[in-house]
Formats: sequence, C-alpha cells, structure tokens
Amino acid sequence: MGRTVILDNGHGGMINNVYQTPGKRSPNWSKGVLYEGMFNRWVVNRVIEQLDRKKIPYYHISPEYTDVTLETRSIRADKIYESNQNVWILSIHANAGGGTGIEGFTTIGRTSSDGIGDVVLRNLESDMIGSSMRFDWSDGDRDKEQDFYILRKPKAPAFLIECGFMDHPIDYNNLWDEVYISALVDSLVKSILEVYNS
Ligand SMILES: [Zn+2]
Repeated sequence: MGRTVILDNGHGGMINNVYQTPGKRSPNWSKGVLYEGMFNRWVVNRVIEQLDRKKIPYYHISPEYTDVTLETRSIRADKIYESNQNVWILSIHANAGGGTGIEGFTTIGRTSSDGIGDVVLRNLESDMIGSSMRFDWSDGDRDKEQDFYILRKPKAPAFLIECGFMDHPIDYNNLWDEVYISALVDSLVKSILEVYNS
C-alpha cells in the first residue's frame, strides 16, 4: 500500500516583500538575499503543480505565508493521520552553516521513514548531476538522523530534505537557478510517485 505525501515548506514566506522569519536567509551576494522560506515555497509550489497535473493526491500542512509554528504543523499532520495512516511528511528546507550539497534527515533509529528517505535520496543522487550528496552510510542507508521536531513529533513517518547551503557560493547560485530547481522538483515528484505507487 503506497503512501500519500504531506508537503511542508519550512519557515515563513514573503508578505508584501517582508520575510516572515528571522534569520534563515543567505548572505546578500550577487543575486540578493535568498530567503529560505521563500525558496522552500518555490519548491513546494512547483511540486504541487506537477502533482495536480498528474492527478496525484497530496496534503499540505503549511500553505500560509506566515511562519506556521512547528507545533501547528505537527497537529495538522496528526489530524490528517487520524483519517489516513498511509501518509508521509516531506519537509523542504535549505541549509546554512558551512558545507555544500544536499542532505536528508530522518529521526534517530530505524523507523519507517528510513525506507522513504532512501527513495528520495537515491533519486536525487541520480538526478542531481554535479551536486555533492552528503550521505551518512554508517547505518546502512543514505540519510542522516536528527531528532528535529517535524521528524520526531508527528505520528506519520517524516523526511526532511536540505536542498543546498544558502551560505555556500556554489549552492547559493544553484538555489537561485531555474535548471537546478527544475531538476530538484522533478526528482522529488518522481520519489513522491514512487512512494505513492509502492
Ligand atoms: Zn529550514
């Protein structure tokens, strides 16, 4: 039985050109400041368009432009889970703090999110040519493990993807780049379909 995706764009968006979240942005380099929550919405909006076109169902727990609290996101996910347990959460983010490349997180320990996370990362590895993949193979799969709230709190299995480092010059350019974003979105949609049809 496949699982339907619950989409989550991390942090707030732009309201009248004002970013709704403190921090969580790139340096002011050549293309300007990349606000993480703005970027996360670009990705989720494009994923939603593709799923609509393919008539693949999805849920979305953070459609507002305000910064919905993690607690509210989790409560919304649990509400969905009450009526449909064949779901998984995909939380979209971009990184900062030194490093380069793509990485994905599940909760600590062996859970049902490990298998789903590995589908996403395997597809990104083959689709994102030239991007470095920050995998942690120590426990036999590609994901890293962290007890982030959005991974730990909701009842549904959850996976968090960091699409690149906003404060790394190459990643910064990638995160602004239409070709990079399209490849990323196509790959995520492929994984969403794979998990839905499995
Ligand atoms: Zn984030």
